[in-house]
Amino acid sequence: MRILVTNDDGIDSEGLLALKRSLSSLGEVVVIAPNHNWSAAGHTKTMHKPLRVSRVTLPDGDSGYSSDGTPSDCVALAMLGLAGDRPELVVSGINKGANLGGDITYSGTVAAAMESIVNNVPAIAISLASYVEWQFEAAAEFAATLASRIQEHGMEPSVLLNVNVPNVAKSEIKGIMVTRLGKRIYQDKLIERQDPFGRNYYWIGGDEPSGNAEEGTDIWALANEYISVTPIHMDLTNYAIMDKLKSWNLQL
Ligand code: MN
Repeated sequence: MRILVTNDDGIDSEGLLALKRSLSSLGEVVVIAPNHNWSAAGHTKTMHKPLRVSRVTLPDGDSGYSSDGTPSDCVALAMLGLAGDRPELVVSGINKGANLGGDITYSGTVAAAMESIVNNVPAIAISLASYVEWQFEAAAEFAATLASRIQEHGMEPSVLLNVNVPNVAKSEIKGIMVTRLGKRIYQDKLIERQDPFGRNYYWIGGDEPSGNAEEGTDIWALANEYISVTPIHMDLTNYAIMDKLKSWNLQL
C-alpha cells in the first residue's frame, strides 16, 4: 500500500515521525508536510502564490518533502503527482492536541484528510489529546492497526476516519469506541493590546475548549479514556431541515 503521511504541526513534529515509523511496516510511506506549524489552518487552498517544496532528511535518515503550503496543499501536491503515483491512503497526524466535535472544521490535521477524500482517497486523521508531554506510542500503533484494516477490508473513498487518542500509557486505554461528533464549547476571549505605535491589536485567546460529554460522542470517549474513531464525510447537508425549508414556499 502506498501511504502519504502528513500533518499540520509541521515537518519537525515528533508526532509525524512516530506515525511514519509505525506505518512503514504496511507499505511504501511518502512524507510531505508543511515547513511550519499550521494548526487551526482549516481546509485551505493556496491560490495566489507559488508553492515551494524542499527535499528534506528526516531524523530517521529517510527523505521526505516539506512545503510552504498548508496541510491540505501538501495532500493536493501528492494527489497531483509531486512524489510519484497517487497515494492509496492518507494519514494525517499524530496531532498534538485533540480534534473533537466542531474542532474538525478548524483543524489542519483533519483538513488534510478532507483534501484526500475530495480526491476519492480514504484517509485517517489522528490526534493525541494533550498540549504537553505527548505519549505517541498507543496512537502510532493504533494508526497502523486501522490502516491495515483499511488495507484488508477497503474503505469508501468518501470517508475519513477521525481518530482521537487519550494521552495515557497504552495499558491505561479502556478500548476503542466508534463515535459521533460531540458538541465542543469554546471559551474564546477577545484580548486587546497595543503595539509600539499605539495601535490596538487583538488576540483571540482563552481557555481550552470543553465539551458536552454526551454518551456515544467523541468527547465522551476521550473523557473516559477510550480511543475514539468517528467516520466523517463531506456531506454537511442537514436533511432533517430540508422539508421545513421547503414548507416556507420560498419565492423571489
Ligand atoms: Mn496541529
